[in-house]
Amino acid sequence: MMQAPFQNTIAHLAHVSGRGYWSGKSVSLTFLPAEPDTGIVFRRVDVAGKPMIPALASHRTDAQLRTKLVCGGASVEMVEHVLAALYGMGIDNCIVECDGAEMPGMDGSAYAMALAIHQAGRITCDQPARYRRIEQTIRIGDEQAYVEANRAQVPGLTLVYHLDYGPSSPIPSTSSSCLLNPEEFLTSIAPARTFLTESDAAKLQQSGLAQHVTHRDLVIFGKSGPIDNQLRFPDECSRHKLLDLIGDLALCGQRLDGMVFACRSGHNLNGRMAERIQSSSDPSNDSLLKAA
Ligand SMILES: [Zn+2]
Repeated sequence: MMQAPFQNTIAHLAHVSGRGYWSGKSVSLTFLPAEPDTGIVFRRVDVAGKPMIPALASHRTDAQLRTKLVCGGASVEMVEHVLAALYGMGIDNCIVECDGAEMPGMDGSAYAMALAIHQAGRITCDQPARYRRIEQTIRIGDEQAYVEANRAQVPGLTLVYHLDYGPSSPIPSTSSSCLLNPEEFLTSIAPARTFLTESDAAKLQQSGLAQHVTHRDLVIFGKSGPIDNQLRFPDECSRHKLLDLIGDLALCGQRLDGMVFACRSGHNLNGRMAERIQSSSDPSNDSLLKAA
């Protein structure tokens, strides 16, 4: 189902709170309705002056295994699931107040946030939504890992993710796809959880990170599958990678009309694709993309 071609915000406040995966710190988020053309903006209410950090690729900075935004002296990180929840639920304008730098990890998925946004309701204003139609192929990465954006075969944003860590990985190779819309996002993409191998999880904890995180706070793969846990979907890992891709593409700052295929990509490649799309939206740059 196509979304209405007008901008949406949430009808009521929504709250979510939890602990950051990396820092272990408690953090509360409040999603606030916002005026047309606000976009998605984070506001650090725990920092003097309550600085605003627009969720745009031009504020993205490289960080290990997560997406981080920096604007002025303020930053927010692990924003990808929050952004996926808003973008996936069709929200164009929202202020996300947070009282810490790291977004809550929840159960490793975006479900709690997407559900809170769904329950807050969506209202449409009379300003046309900002769309970017992908007209020519954009490819970022190499033969091993890449993201490629192409002209849409069907109206809307179609996403495909191919996950393959090789035959020796305990994480099975799977592919997932979706035509992005709020109903499918809420039921089929938002619940897909973050995952790690047992050895990567041990390395993180040895380095002093994620001390409070247990086998139930995300999916940890041992040699014979998820440890002390069950998958929510047979392709949960590639669905989670779709979720991350949606959150990173939200940094384009507008809705997309196109087909994005990602193979083994992570936040860095996804974010660079969002940067390319955002920067090519500037009419002074070479016009890979034209306004729909
Ligand atoms: Zn993720």
